[in-house]
Amino acid sequence: MMQAPTQIVDSADVVVAGGGTAGIVAALSAARNGARTILIERTGHLGGMVTGGNAGMTMYMKYSGELEKHARDQAALATDPAQVQVAGGITKEIADRLISMGAGIGNDGQAGSYVFTSSEDFKWLLFEMMKEAGVVLRLHSWVVDVIADDGAVVGLVTESKEGRQAILAKQAIDATGDGDIAVRMGVPYTVGMTEDDLSVQHGSKVGVMTPMGVMFKVGNVDVKRLLTWAGEEPSHFRTQRFARLTYDEVVACFDKGEMACCTISTGFDEAPKGFQVYNLPTEGVVTLCCPFAHGDGTKVEDLTNAEMAMAEIVRQWMGNIVKLPGFETAFLLDCPEIGVRETRHIAGDYLLTIEDVYNNKEFPDCIGRGSHPIDAPNRVPWLKDVATAFPDRWSFGIPYGCLLAKGVPNLHVVGRCLSATHEASGSIRPTVQCMITGEAAGAAAALCTKQGIANLRKLDIKQLQETLAAQGVVL
Ligand SMILES: Cc1cc2nc3c(=O)[nH]c(=O)nc-3n(C[C@H](O)[C@H](O)[C@H](O)COP(=O)(O)OP(=O)(O)OC[C@H]3O[C@@H](n4cnc5c(N)ncnc54)[C@H](O)[C@@H]3O)c2cc1C
Repeated sequence: MMQAPTQIVDSADVVVAGGGTAGIVAALSAARNGARTILIERTGHLGGMVTGGNAGMTMYMKYSGELEKHARDQAALATDPAQVQVAGGITKEIADRLISMGAGIGNDGQAGSYVFTSSEDFKWLLFEMMKEAGVVLRLHSWVVDVIADDGAVVGLVTESKEGRQAILAKQAIDATGDGDIAVRMGVPYTVGMTEDDLSVQHGSKVGVMTPMGVMFKVGNVDVKRLLTWAGEEPSHFRTQRFARLTYDEVVACFDKGEMACCTISTGFDEAPKGFQVYNLPTEGVVTLCCPFAHGDGTKVEDLTNAEMAMAEIVRQWMGNIVKLPGFETAFLLDCPEIGVRETRHIAGDYLLTIEDVYNNKEFPDCIGRGSHPIDAPNRVPWLKDVATAFPDRWSFGIPYGCLLAKGVPNLHVVGRCLSATHEASGSIRPTVQCMITGEAAGAAAALCTKQGIANLRKLDIKQLQETLAAQGVVL
């Protein structure tokens, strides 16, 4: 059968593939720096996991380990945020706008360690921000191929109800989460854990991936009643291991209308034996996390099995959860499609490792900072206890080299699939870090097109850093 010809429908300075967590910030950053920017997204909304998947915006603050130190730094957020805040720029602007419109819940009304949001308001805000910045959107379009010339990306090919269409561009940013564009360009990649991960020396198998899962929303929950029950018996309550709030802090935050996440141990013989609960701006609505599904998030069969297994598990959770105080009349409000945590790691000019992250290695090409402790299956003894593994007031630098797709002059890879080991990606894949990589890539791509630079490696890194600093990015 003959294939219909691909029609060239538009051209841009910068094309961003994937309008998810990293892609939205990449597009805003490129457009605000003067590039004609087209953002292509396969669904009908923007934000990816951070809106449609109900994930929170997590970690903004230097990591402080022990609970008393964490409380000290939470307090510093209100009095001296510059001391502890590691995410600025467009990421913080988004969080601040969400909080000020009542669609985000943080600490002390600020973008602190965690911000959980009302996803529908967030999706609306992103459309507003794209309009303000002049980003051209192409929704309901899958990027399925690349047009390459002499090893560079010249355009992207999309598939939609209209058939195949092409968008030409000088610079491309792969924000698909799985490195779809880089793979089409022939950039090498690994999947899950490799020999570069320390865990392999401690018995982990190569190829281990962080499991898929869903964060689902439950309505009609009496959170106060749940917390009271959790406070009556110490075995019911655990601190959420990254937010680090004690029971009293959780209650105090909840009473003030702030982020108050914790882990509940149900005591049930069946699932869920425990779950994380996150309060949301809408009273009575919470996000629950997280049943797991194993498999490879780039394989149709695994994704199909995971969707079906997850529907069953969430149904089972709901059947039992209504036995808990506070959940008696609760109902399942929404359950997103399966969320993928880890698949490919696309080879870049630099491979970020857990030693770099933990030791806060100095990178001359640092484009932003992260602060999320490792959240990936690992067997490294000194990484096991997040309370003590990381130094006080710890954060890590993100080098520009891990965003540059190996061997391609004009392709950035941002978000969870950039060039990092499995263990390092446990720190860089949480949402805020993904957004920070997007901001850098967008600015760099725009600077290059403005100056007629075809190869990203020729860009003056100091100029990029100055541009990012002027946007409020913390370097
Ligand atoms: C269940 C779960 C819970 C999590 N909870 C948290 C949390 O609470 N806090 C936290 O910080 N992190 C959390 N994470 C991690 C975090 O959400 C992700 O790592 C991060 O959002 C990934 O960002 P991304 O931009 O790389 O991908 P995504 O946000 O998934 O964006 C990718 C976008 O690209 C689009 N796309 C993909 N392929 C194509 C294509 N070929 N053509 C066009 N469009 C395409 C997708 O539709 C999507 O919009 C969680 C992850 C999961 C799975």
